[in-house]
Amino acid sequence: MSPNGGTLLKVENLDAGYGVVPVLRGVTLEAGRGEIIAVVGANGAGKTTLMSAIGGLITPTGGKIFFNGQDITAMPAHAKPDLGLAMVPEGGRLFPFMTVRENLELGGYARRARTTSAARIDEMMELFPILGERRDQLAGKLSGGERQMCAIARAAMSRPSLLLLDEPSVGLSPLMAERVFDIVRELAVREGLTVLLVEQKVAEALEIASRAYVLDHGHIVRSGPANVLSADKAIQETYMGL
Ligand code: ATP
Repeated sequence: MSPNGGTLLKVENLDAGYGVVPVLRGVTLEAGRGEIIAVVGANGAGKTTLMSAIGGLITPTGGKIFFNGQDITAMPAHAKPDLGLAMVPEGGRLFPFMTVRENLELGGYARRARTTSAARIDEMMELFPILGERRDQLAGKLSGGERQMCAIARAAMSRPSLLLLDEPSVGLSPLMAERVFDIVRELAVREGLTVLLVEQKVAEALEIASRAYVLDHGHIVRSGPANVLSADKAIQETYMGL
């Protein structure tokens, strides 16, 4: 199931929401080391809520989250980068008045990355050549695709073992979205990185994922190998407009 063996992330029976409003109900999923896992679903299905719960931005009301065998259900977001868990929120949330390089430097602030920060920036600029060209430009002046790449590179600075990627294709042209997906795949392969990708662009996400889960109104309604799901008539009709 996983290229490098072993489960890295396990989500068991997770309930989460906002105040008294439940969003996720009994969500169970897992990601093996080196796997790209897609969680796909329509607008409002609960994808961002799932990311927020795993990333520690909201506290689940039920269920458990294990990372590397450790129970991280109640661990706050700020403790997670040092554990090897990095998050790219929707839209990237870069610091617009800082340069590309400065944004990457901030990504290298986690304890596990500090000693190798400068060399790691060079590695990231090699993987994302456009960021090398734009290194001294303010992040706020980047195009949507460049911004997304910078956000992914910033998250990768700390050499995470798990990357949570929330809808990296939002606002991008199909061509740019494809480039971002390609680079995510390359990063995962190069570094043995596990990626949990939530996406509304279902066809594209299934193309780079090995396995996928379909989230609908806070429930996982389907799961399986990505190629099986993408060939499924019901999924094609509901989520791919085919
Ligand atoms: P999108 O693609 O629009 O981001 P999503 O699948 O990520 O959708 P969520 O953002 O997780 O879905 O939202 C799931 C549900 O939770 C929606 O009904 C939404 O209105 C609600 N919701 C999201 N954020 C909050 C919040 N901060 N407070 C209350 N309800 C929220």
